[in-house]
Amino acid sequence: MNAEIIAVGSEMLTPQRTDTNSLWLTAELNGLGIEVVAKIIVGDDRARLTETIADATRRSELVILTGGLGPTEDDLTRECVAGATHRQLQFSQPLLDDLLARFTRLGRAMAENNKRQAYLIEGAEALPNPNGSAPGQWLRLAPDRHIALLPGPPREMKPLYTAQVGPRLAALIPPQHIRVLTFRIAGMGESDVDSLVAPVYSQYKNPVTTILAKPGDVELDFRARCNTVEEADALLAEVGAKVEALLGERIYSRDGAPLEAATGALLRARKATLAVAESCTGGLLAERISSVPGSSEYFDGGFVVYSRGLKHALLGIPSEEIAGPLVYGEAAAKSLAEATRLRAGSHYAIAITGVAGPGPDEGFEPGHVVVAVASGAKTVARTLTLFGDRGRIRFMATQSALDLLRRTFLLPAL
Ligand code: ATP
Repeated sequence: MNAEIIAVGSEMLTPQRTDTNSLWLTAELNGLGIEVVAKIIVGDDRARLTETIADATRRSELVILTGGLGPTEDDLTRECVAGATHRQLQFSQPLLDDLLARFTRLGRAMAENNKRQAYLIEGAEALPNPNGSAPGQWLRLAPDRHIALLPGPPREMKPLYTAQVGPRLAALIPPQHIRVLTFRIAGMGESDVDSLVAPVYSQYKNPVTTILAKPGDVELDFRARCNTVEEADALLAEVGAKVEALLGERIYSRDGAPLEAATGALLRARKATLAVAESCTGGLLAERISSVPGSSEYFDGGFVVYSRGLKHALLGIPSEEIAGPLVYGEAAAKSLAEATRLRAGSHYAIAITGVAGPGPDEGFEPGHVVVAVASGAKTVARTLTLFGDRGRIRFMATQSALDLLRRTFLLPAL
């Protein structure tokens, strides 16, 4: 369904006032799957407003007007809708009774002017407005053509829409089903992911694609809205397959699970166990792995070996292998991973060593990090150059280490 929104009121054409009603209404309508195809602001001018309403009702299935329902001469919305749709304005005694009751409740006398608000467009339903004197109106022009008249003040308009108009629209629209496909990607920055997959997703208005980026982690959400669940799932499968073909094993999760959970699931599937040795991350990796419920099935534990002394004492790394700058080298990281695997009796072991900052150490700048993974059959190490503050470097180090284990050892061979 297509909709147009008409904001009525000369004050909306001044530099002091903004039409905020249409923004709020657009979000509500979009939420129902209704597309807003035009928004118009018209001053308090009878001819121009009548013409605008006539044009809008010709073009669009739904026209929502806000404002101009007050009691004064320049509140023209009722009259102009009646004129544009060739209908009479009809006096309604029940509406007048409601108005009188409202004024009595407030302890005020009703001005003669307010009687203007007791007129309904022929065939329209009155929409009660508990927060103001101007009732809204709902007019069905044809089975697929409707006009809603709502008061201008947002504190009146919003509750009236929510109580009266939203449910009427929902009943007119075939039920829509929303399904979401989420891919999470490690080892690529947001702009790299976007430039790779934008040629695919930009071909589709449905599903709608959003990209959310965190350090070391990019989330791609595809949101399909269709008449049936099957249609939405088929659409997501089609777009998902095209994106998978481009990103491949960079996608670590298809259900929103974080990297520690996705890696854990692969370990569980292989009935494999893991231990870690952490220097610059000080236990962050173990914390992430063990935060996943059920991780005791595959996580044996870890060693926080911050000093050279403890690397030697706990893991038996020869002092000369970790002397001076060697402690930040790939050979030391590999030794740490291998020793950890043997000490813990695990299938796999990860080791992380590096400079988290803020200052340099042993000639290495902050962000110089080495991660290593040992499996018994082989040991691999990667030297990383990470940027950012201490927290970001430490997190990225754990992210890279988990992804190295996942991609190098746990994915089925292609
Ligand atoms: P009432 O008689 O209850 O005031 P009304 O329908 O006559 O209702 P208007 O007189 O058109 O409403 O507008 C009243 C006030 O509501 C405006 O001065 C403005 O503050 C606010 N308003 C009107 N239209 C909008 C809009 N489109 N967006 C935001 N605020 C609006």
